[in-house]
Amino acid sequence: RPSVVFDNVLFGYEKDRTILKGLSFEVPAGQNIAIVGPSGAGKSTIARLLFRFYDPWSGRILIDGQDIAQVTQTSLRAALGIVPQDSVLFNETIGYNIAYGRGDATQADVEAAAKGAALMPLIERLPQGFQTEVGERGLKLSGGEKQRVAIARTLVKNPPILLLDEATSALDTRTEQDILATLHRVSEDRTSLSIAHRLSTIADSDKILVLQDGQLAESGSHLELLRRD
Ligand code: ADP
Ligand code: ADP
Repeated sequence: RPSVVFDNVLFGYEKDRTILKGLSFEVPAGQNIAIVGPSGAGKSTIARLLFRFYDPWSGRILIDGQDIAQVTQTSLRAALGIVPQDSVLFNETIGYNIAYGRGDATQADVEAAAKGAALMPLIERLPQGFQTEVGERGLKLSGGEKQRVAIARTLVKNPPILLLDEATSALDTRTEQDILATLHRVSEDRTSLSIAHRLSTIADSDKILVLQDGQLAESGSHLELLRRD
């Protein structure tokens, strides 16, 4: 299980507007760190830099001690799994949607991923199981079911690092609690970074970083932050 380090990262999308202002933090191997902060603080930018959609102006991002600028795109993608807020499913079978990120996934891999995402109760109710078409002309999935397919799609790659980018913020409260429980379980034996709006969705994190205007305003455990309020 690798660690993730942001070391004095300076970045902006446009030359004259700095978004991350010398950001440093560490996600120790196997821990679950959460980043919260107001809209526009730069949270999703952190995710984009991790995937190297952009590179920092200066500073470094390290995975397991290695600068990601020196790592191949293939191994970077193998190391990182993301569960985004709104996952796009294809008008295809559930099995296809799960295996999508890994062309060589076997049926056993797909089943293990579905199990990890707590998707089997749904699959077992469907006469065609994993072969069920979903989407416009097929089975309509609820928001929570869609998120479980997205989680299974991520798990099928068995990534050592998990990035949760507002992974439950589009769901109603009850569904959110169910999905959070699943995410907590799948995060447990991985290094994970949860990007979140609300403190209630990251109660299980080892540490919370509060990002404000591209800088860390404070950090601590859930309890420590509540006490300081
Ligand atoms: P958060 O996830 O905390 O809401 P973001 O990281 O998405 O914040 O955005 C941080 C800032 O960067 C915002 O002010 C946003 O408008 C700006 N921004 C995001 N993406 C782009 C882009 N592609 N081009 C220019 N500015 C952007
Ligand atoms: P692979 O790279 O093997 O296809 P992934 O599902 O991990 O498997 O791919 C990452 C994908 O997730 C990218 O194609 C990208 O479009 C999407 N992605 C990456 N970062 C974000 C993000 N912050 N929010 C939403 N989607 C993202």
